[in-house]
Amino acid sequence: MELRPETRAVHHAQPDLDGSRPISVPIYQTSGFVFDDPAVFADAMGRPDGAFVYGRLGNPTVRALEDKLADLEGGVAAVATGSGMGAINCVLLGLLSPGDHLVSQKAIYGGTAAMINELERRFGVTVTYVPEDDPDALRAAVRPETKLVYLETLANPVLQVADLPGMCAVARELGIVSVVDNTFATPMLCRPIEHGADVVVHSTTKYLSGHTDVVGGLAVFADDALHRKIWHFSVELGATADPFASWLTLRGLQTLHLRMERHCSNTRYLATRLAAHPAVTAVHWPGLPSHPSYELAGKLLPDFGGVFSFELSGGRPAGEKFMSSVRLALLAPSLGGVETLVMHPATTSHRSLSSEELARHGIGEGTIRLAVGIEHPEDLWSDIEQALS
Ligand SMILES: *Cc1c(COP(=O)(O)O)cnc(C)c1O
Repeated sequence: MELRPETRAVHHAQPDLDGSRPISVPIYQTSGFVFDDPAVFADAMGRPDGAFVYGRLGNPTVRALEDKLADLEGGVAAVATGSGMGAINCVLLGLLSPGDHLVSQKAIYGGTAAMINELERRFGVTVTYVPEDDPDALRAAVRPETKLVYLETLANPVLQVADLPGMCAVARELGIVSVVDNTFATPMLCRPIEHGADVVVHSTTKYLSGHTDVVGGLAVFADDALHRKIWHFSVELGATADPFASWLTLRGLQTLHLRMERHCSNTRYLATRLAAHPAVTAVHWPGLPSHPSYELAGKLLPDFGGVFSFELSGGRPAGEKFMSSVRLALLAPSLGGVETLVMHPATTSHRSLSSEELARHGIGEGTIRLAVGIEHPEDLWSDIEQALS
């Protein structure tokens, strides 16, 4: 029977224990594994799918999370890491060498942008930025030494939507590995491998774990050779995921589809009300017809996620006043948890960027970003409305 992602997220395959099985995945809190056969021990050191041997190479609880995400994303295998940046760096550092060229979309997560700057300044990698929805610009940017194309399904904080089918097709045609950060969409809204991506990266800190109690990351691979290569590199780098964090993430994943529905419907409600408010000059969410990605988003995604941003007519002072006036929404970084969070990107997540780079990301001095939780939408609107007035 072909099961849908919502059902596959709930059920775990578990090994038999003398006639019954645990329903929840057990936490294997051990750093090492003992062998009876020296040949099996030797074999386990060299490959991701051998026997478990040492915690940095693999762990059954971590493997259950990797298998679950590989299944939900439609990949062959995954590597879980201690953070989203750990997964992103395993992929970037595992695939790029000095002299290589990277093409990235313009608006990317602040930490990734900072890392790409490091690669350029200190590691001899050259970088070209292109719009996330322009396959012709990507084709024009590619050189013989281009190794990697970096995209995000939905970009922070103004929610540009990447033309995944168009961009990944160009990358595939030219033999370049395409990497997509799918953190904001999750596999419930988008599965980039179905659109031609080679690698999908996640910060599992966000929607996948979903309860603001885990830091974790993960990379899913469309083919075995890439998985093997990045697994080897992740073992050398030591970007290992922790069994307990992996267990919390597996538990969160079981309700991902329910939470995403509410994140999306709450966001639609708040974005629509804000767009009609006189103190607001713009609302950035691809579910609104005013968003530049509205048409592409409608073709690619069934809904548009729980993060959006807006501009206040009073600029930076109005933004600061709003931040200090909200009572229910929490002034905090991150996103994807059950509680609504508010932040000011120019002074927090994107503070290391120059004003030029801020403009490249579409961020203004007065931009406010909301990561909408799963509370009652009217309670959230009451809070926002009183903060605006
Ligand atoms: C948070 C985030 C990351 C980084 O993940 P960490 O778990 O904080 O290391 C990468 N990409 C996106 C889109 C994110 O939101």
